[in-house]
Amino acid sequence: MTRIETLAVHAGGEPDKETGAVAPPIHLATTFQHGPAGERRAGYEYQREQNPTQDRLEAVLAAMEGGAAALAFGSGMAAMNCLLESLPSGSHFLYPRDCYTGLRALANEFLPERGVTGTAVDMGDADAVRAALRPETRLLWAETPSNPRLEVSDLAALSAIARAHGALLACDNTFATPVLQRPLALGADVVMHSTTKYLGGHSDVMGGALVFAKADELHARVAHRRHVTGNILAPFSAWLILRGARSLPARLAWHCRNARALADLLAAHPAVEAVHYPGLATHPNHAVAARQMSDFGGMLSFQLKGGREAALRVAGGLKLAINATSLGGPETLVEHRASVEGANPHTAQNLLRVSVGLEHPDDLLADFRQALDAAR
Ligand code: PLP
Repeated sequence: MTRIETLAVHAGGEPDKETGAVAPPIHLATTFQHGPAGERRAGYEYQREQNPTQDRLEAVLAAMEGGAAALAFGSGMAAMNCLLESLPSGSHFLYPRDCYTGLRALANEFLPERGVTGTAVDMGDADAVRAALRPETRLLWAETPSNPRLEVSDLAALSAIARAHGALLACDNTFATPVLQRPLALGADVVMHSTTKYLGGHSDVMGGALVFAKADELHARVAHRRHVTGNILAPFSAWLILRGARSLPARLAWHCRNARALADLLAAHPAVEAVHYPGLATHPNHAVAARQMSDFGGMLSFQLKGGREAALRVAGGLKLAINATSLGGPETLVEHRASVEGANPHTAQNLLRVSVGLEHPDDLLADFRQALDAAR
C-alpha cells in the first residue's frame, strides 16, 4: 500500500476492534484508566498527551507524507509555532519573503522574545539563501507554493543548502498537500500543514500538523512541548480532518482542473495585469514546479490593471465566488489580501487571491468573466 489515493483511504482506518464499525469512533475521553502505579492499559493516559482519534489522524498524515511520525495541533499556526519555538534560544532561521502573514508575525513579534530570530529571503534564489545564512542558522523554512503570490522554491536545492550548513529544512505544504508534493522525499526534515485547509477540506474545522522524516529527538522534543503547552487538537476536530483526508486526492484533482481553467481565463483577460499560478508556462518557477509537483494546485492569485479600486470592483462583482478568507474548501473563495493584512499590508493592493473550489468550471469561469468585464 504505497499509492497516495489508497493511503488516504486506508491509513489509520482499521475497523473498530470492539464493534467492527468502519467509520472510526470519536474518543472524547480526557482520561484513561490505568493501574495503581500508573500502568497504562493501551498506551493512553490523558487526552492532552495523546488519544486514539488523534492517533488515527497522525497515522494517515504520516503515511501520506511518507514520514515516520506526525503530530496534530489545534491550528496551523499552533503547529508552526511549536516547531519554531522548539529551536534553541539564540537560533536564527530563514523564511520566504512571500509567506502566510502569520509566519511573518511570529518572526517579527513573538519568536524574538524567546531569542529566536528570522530573516525573510527569496527562497527561490539559492544564492540569496546561501548569502543569508549565519553560523547560528538552524532552520530553513520553505512555503511552496507560497501564500499569496504562489512563489515556488526548489526543495531539493534548499535541502542541499540546509544539509551543508547543518540546518533543518521545514516546509509548509498547505497549498500543495501531499497529493501534489512530498517535501520529505525531496530532503525536507519536517512538513507543516494547516489542516484547516485542503485536508479538512470543507471549511468547517481548524487544525494543524507536523510530519517528521524521522521519529527522532526533534520529534520527541516537539511532542513533549505540545503535551506540556497544551497546543492540542480536539478529538472531534481530529475526526473531521481524518474524514477530509480520505477524499483529498479525489478533491484535489478537481481543484487543479478548475484552477487551471481559471488561470487560463485570467491570463487572457484584458483587465488582468498578471496571474500567479505555477501551472502557467509564464510563471517564473514553472520548471521547478513541474519537476517537484504532480499538478499545480487549486490556489492562484492575480493582479488587476487599475489598482486597488479595480481589484475591489472585481471581488465585489462576483456572484458565485464568496469573499472570504481561508482556502481549500468546496466553495471558491476570493480575498483582497491587502485589506486583511493589517495596518502595513505586505501584499499588493491590486492583488486578489483565489481558492478555486469544486463548482462546475463553466459556472466558475462565467462568474469571473462577468465580474472582470463589468470592472473594466
Ligand atoms: N500556512 C498557510 C500557507 C496558510 O495559508 C495558513 C492559513 O491561512 C496557515 C499556515 C495558518 O493555518 P491556520 O489558519 O490553520 O492556523
